[in-house]
Amino acid sequence: MCGIIGYTGKDNAIPKLIKGLSVLEYRGYDSVGIACFGKEGIEIEKTKGRIADLEAKLRDNPLPNSPCAIGHTRWATHGGPSDINSHPHRVGKVTVVHNGIIENYKELKGELEKKGVRFKSETDTEVGCALISLLYEDSKDPYLSIKKAIEILKGSYAFAIIFEDRPGEIYTTRLGAPLILSRAADGSYLSSDMTALLPFSKEYSPLNEGEIALLTADKTYILGDNGKKKEVSYQVTSMTAESAQKGGYPHYMLKEIHEQSDKIRSALSPRLSQGLPDFSSDKVPDDFFLNIPEIHIVACGSAYHAGIVGSHFHEDEGRVPTRCFLASEYRYRPPVCPKGTLAIFISQSGETADTLAALRYAKGQGMETLAVVNARETSIAREAHYTLYTNAGPEIAVATTKGYSTQVALLWLVAIKIAFVNGKMDARKVRKECASLLVDAPHAMEAMLSSKMIHRYKKIAKGLVGREHIFYIGRGLDHALCLEASLKLKEISYIHCEAYAAGELKHGTISLIEPGTPVLAIITEKDLYDKTESNMRECSSRGGFTILICRDDIVVPETSYDELIPVTSVSYAATFFAALIVIQYLAYETALLNGCDIDRPRNLAKSVTVE
Ligand code: GLU
Repeated sequence: MCGIIGYTGKDNAIPKLIKGLSVLEYRGYDSVGIACFGKEGIEIEKTKGRIADLEAKLRDNPLPNSPCAIGHTRWATHGGPSDINSHPHRVGKVTVVHNGIIENYKELKGELEKKGVRFKSETDTEVGCALISLLYEDSKDPYLSIKKAIEILKGSYAFAIIFEDRPGEIYTTRLGAPLILSRAADGSYLSSDMTALLPFSKEYSPLNEGEIALLTADKTYILGDNGKKKEVSYQVTSMTAESAQKGGYPHYMLKEIHEQSDKIRSALSPRLSQGLPDFSSDKVPDDFFLNIPEIHIVACGSAYHAGIVGSHFHEDEGRVPTRCFLASEYRYRPPVCPKGTLAIFISQSGETADTLAALRYAKGQGMETLAVVNARETSIAREAHYTLYTNAGPEIAVATTKGYSTQVALLWLVAIKIAFVNGKMDARKVRKECASLLVDAPHAMEAMLSSKMIHRYKKIAKGLVGREHIFYIGRGLDHALCLEASLKLKEISYIHCEAYAAGELKHGTISLIEPGTPVLAIITEKDLYDKTESNMRECSSRGGFTILICRDDIVVPETSYDELIPVTSVSYAATFFAALIVIQYLAYETALLNGCDIDRPRNLAKSVTVE
């Protein structure tokens, strides 16, 4: 979601913050701002819009050279995007940037207004700032004022806080929203996202929930009871600044589509030993997978779609009853499940607030929990009993591609493991399935990225752009893939697209098919061909423009489609991941033709850290 960056050290902070904020852009934002220590006290520049808009303001009204500053990209939750609502917010001596939501802001606002505070913005953040400010007036102690404030604040937050009479110091605290500390030879840094720190340092230390830290130019301290200082110890990340750059592609999304075959190998190969699934490097013991009575898969957005695919595997391969839940709904339907139920939580960012809340809920219910996460050292990864990292590297485009495909690959491997250790699949079959995931699937993806295929996607995208509605239809696992296909198209091309279980269309939505309405059918399972083909004919009879993404061992009569994209049938894994490339690329090309901001679609955020 929004991003925070802070620096205190020897150099001028402003160019560093601009650089860090630019890296944070991918998370999605609508406004941006910086506060720094100047000669006359704290100076702030902020604006609705993009970093380029802030830079334009700074050209007219430069901030002073300052060795200590905090910056923010905002994704509005309370109060629309505007200059006034942008962060940083200042009340009295205190200036803050904040990520998250203060849930009890309304009642606090009323109380603070009675004490004479006049609010300028509509944000919840300014309420938090005012609270700290009043407490600071009383105590004159930054640690005590923050500590007292977080006892009062409800909700989720990461704060970076500066006090006008404490030049060179940045205070920070967090609850339910990420915050990472870092250091380099030139000073101390903080950010909500490791990628924003990579241009400066590879050393990092995630702040724990509820901790308060103090950054100074030389050192960063965790402030324990009574403000007692403990120096932070750092780890070194293997991420590189280059891994978070475009590498010659026009968009991150395109780069990430192309990276998928390699990333699937990176997700799987450390977890295969003699061709069999082995999670010992993740420290998951084999008996964790034994006798599981039921599985819940809990996630949001594309990760939820990956979960639906995973639920098919668990039932097909391991014969374990499996249900997939939207994380934001999980708590409202107290799960009825047998003791020993395994709950799997999927999140690319590892910080998805809804998924994190659902994970905490499941742990509270005594369930066994397993996380499938991409970003390391994140809240979901830390809090689950066991975590499998998808090893996809930083995913910058808001629309996930390699995040999703590596999640599916790992869920598949887990399903094979469960089937194997519980005697539902013999070693020969397990080896064959693992090999098809590790070898056939990446090959098939690479083949679908040939220039000949890209030419076809471009041509088909011309038939999609400018349409009012588009439909994806499929049965079984193909329906699960259709859900992801339709989300991909909607989120980046802004064209309304629905995913339908192919048999359901005639129960209502077929009324929307008009001459020229594109209907894309996915057929990766042979047995389902006849029925889905009939459903497609029902659409073409009503003038629909039909595009068939179909395995290549089925002979499809030319009268059955307007466009055909054959995908390999060498193994089911290869077919599935080949079809995935098609739906991702079609969304990308359609968005391109529609002139959309592909990596940063409007209103969306990469890492959704609010519930
Ligand atoms: N709730 C705050 C606001 O609306 C912070 C939003 C964010 O995380 O960017 O300003």
